[in-house]
Amino acid sequence: ISAYELTKASIERTKDIEPKLDSFLSITDELALAQAKAVDEKRASGEALSDIAGIPMAIKDNICTKGIKTTCASKMLENFVPPYNATVVDKLFEKGAVLVGKTNLDEFAMGGSTENSAFKPTRNPWDTSRVPGGSSGGSAASVAGRQVFYALGSDTGGSVREPASFTGIVGLKPTYGRISRYGLVAFGSSLDQIGIFSRDVEDCAMVLSHMAGKDRMDGTSVDVPVPDYAGELSGNVKGMKVGVPKELLGEGVNQDVKNAIVAALEKLKEQGVEWEEISMPNLKYSIETYYIIAPCEASSNLARYDGIRYGFRTGDFETLEELYKRTRSEGFGEEVKRRIMIGTYALSAGYYDAYYKKALKVRTLIKNDFMNAYEKYDAIITPTAPNTAYKLGEKIGDPLSMYMEDLCTIPVNMAGLPGLSIPCGLDSNGMPIGMQIIGKHFDEAGILRLAKAYE
Ligand code: GLN
Repeated sequence: ISAYELTKASIERTKDIEPKLDSFLSITDELALAQAKAVDEKRASGEALSDIAGIPMAIKDNICTKGIKTTCASKMLENFVPPYNATVVDKLFEKGAVLVGKTNLDEFAMGGSTENSAFKPTRNPWDTSRVPGGSSGGSAASVAGRQVFYALGSDTGGSVREPASFTGIVGLKPTYGRISRYGLVAFGSSLDQIGIFSRDVEDCAMVLSHMAGKDRMDGTSVDVPVPDYAGELSGNVKGMKVGVPKELLGEGVNQDVKNAIVAALEKLKEQGVEWEEISMPNLKYSIETYYIIAPCEASSNLARYDGIRYGFRTGDFETLEELYKRTRSEGFGEEVKRRIMIGTYALSAGYYDAYYKKALKVRTLIKNDFMNAYEKYDAIITPTAPNTAYKLGEKIGDPLSMYMEDLCTIPVNMAGLPGLSIPCGLDSNGMPIGMQIIGKHFDEAGILRLAKAYE
């Protein structure tokens, strides 16, 4: 099959099912067909092609694409067209990737259900009355709904892994610094990382190899050699040691989820993986800590949307102060405003030491829990989320219950570690459950190998 035919089929499928899912904010079918044609021409001329050349994919709409709207699902950036590509976009395009469209998200990636999009919610392909998770819910639905073969998301506290878990696909958040963040619209800069959604572990490994590496445009990207992740998948997992923190298998975790994780661990055991329950006592402070640090960073990052430099500007102002105030009141949604207010408060004089600085100290304790565990274990396994996909509208009025869903994913961002979610069964409603495999810094190869052994 030619890249052109494949892309045409992907676009047809996308348009066909899109009214049910709403995965996309924009569909770039003309670009996709042109990119596919170019791949076919290269092939015809005998040029060597990469393993992702001509494969249709999608990108979360908070990753900049030159000449293509990048809205962050916010009224604030509704008409923003970036003049440059994110580094990952350049890298994938150079390898012949085919962009089918930009996917829906919670506004500025703040949320866990994609209901915070300023434009529309996305629906879970397994049951369209349920959420696909978030914030990268559009990317997750586009892969799970078989619109595209893989998709990019961003993960600040779980936004790739949680939706992957809710939609029964593979989701990887690499180590902080593994992939350039240049061109990813900033939310919490010390936590943000671009991640991958795919149908299976091998596809994920393949795409990662093309995206990883040092970038001079992102000073936090790290110069660690990039292995051929897909080539390393075949290694066996016999003798690998896995720790399972009891703090993430206790209260607040759904019984179906617990059962599925234990069954998955037993399956890994049959392949020679040794696992045992351990204690990581500081993980229980993760949610409180994250919901100080992430809003603090967000309040600072989002200060740039002032009605002057980017996008939306209120029509109703006389003074400069009114321009700022009304632009931000009208342009941002509820959740984004909530985060800006929490962050601004926690960073203000007098509260900085009590909240922000304290949270940074707890963050170090959480990281130390992982570092201690990694002296003995090769990986940590937890559920990806304490519950499975819930109904649209069920938690939207109660932000705290939404925040609780990040229990297992947040610690991984706090420590800058790589984490992968892999499907491990269904709950009693027939909704997918995800298992999270957490590795040492820059050991994406290790967690991919474990995931492949389980798959
Ligand atoms: N659900 C978390 C939040 O709302 C994580 C979001 C993310 O990873 N972008 O902040």
